[in-house]
Amino acid sequence: MSQPGQIFIVSAASGTGKTTLVSRMIAHQPFIRVSISHTTRPPRDGEQDGTHYHFVSIREFEDLIGQGAFLEHADVFGNYYGTSVNAVNSLIEQGFDVILEIDIQGAQQVRKQLPDAVSIFILPPSFAVLAERLMGRGTESKDVISRRLSKAHHEIEQAFLFDYVIINKELDQAEQDLLAIIRTSHLRGEKQQQTITDVLAAD
Ligand code: 5GP
Repeated sequence: MSQPGQIFIVSAASGTGKTTLVSRMIAHQPFIRVSISHTTRPPRDGEQDGTHYHFVSIREFEDLIGQGAFLEHADVFGNYYGTSVNAVNSLIEQGFDVILEIDIQGAQQVRKQLPDAVSIFILPPSFAVLAERLMGRGTESKDVISRRLSKAHHEIEQAFLFDYVIINKELDQAEQDLLAIIRTSHLRGEKQQQTITDVLAAD
């Protein structure tokens, strides 16, 4: 792992299946990590502190904001979410690619600060499929689902601002598309300066 890793922002309207997609993809990729966010949202069944999120109180989160601990942070559906700048930098320095699974507000903040970050938006095949997936999850109240659906339209309008858009219709295909974007990013000429220099030096 001689090169530093790259940052990939992955956003979607909630219920699009982005967590499943990303988890599946990284299971076979030892050099790609997902950044574990901090949140003030209570854990859902099966979620573990330090694995799915760092679950913290509002007070702790606000202290971390004050310390400048976040690369980005946002209020999503009434809870705070944020990405730890130290955790991301440490992974990048070790040569890992880092995926930030964050909402569109966070994506905007990261794009502004780190224009080199590659942004990817995951689209559902349709609103009907999105509604079905949100209800099928069975973890949220009706009120939360209807709020999420009305927000989804606004979120999907922001997809135009992303570098890449993947349609999550077939999970296998979407997984291949995501990996293809990551691989292609590493092949960009500007990322291969050292390789070119090494080849020339060995002449
Ligand atoms: P959930 O509560 O369903 O896990 O996540 C709700 C939303 O918050 C999702 O869109 C998710 O991508 C987003 N999210 C998770 N972590 C972060 C983060 O660190 N920053 C931002 N801005 N959004 C996040």
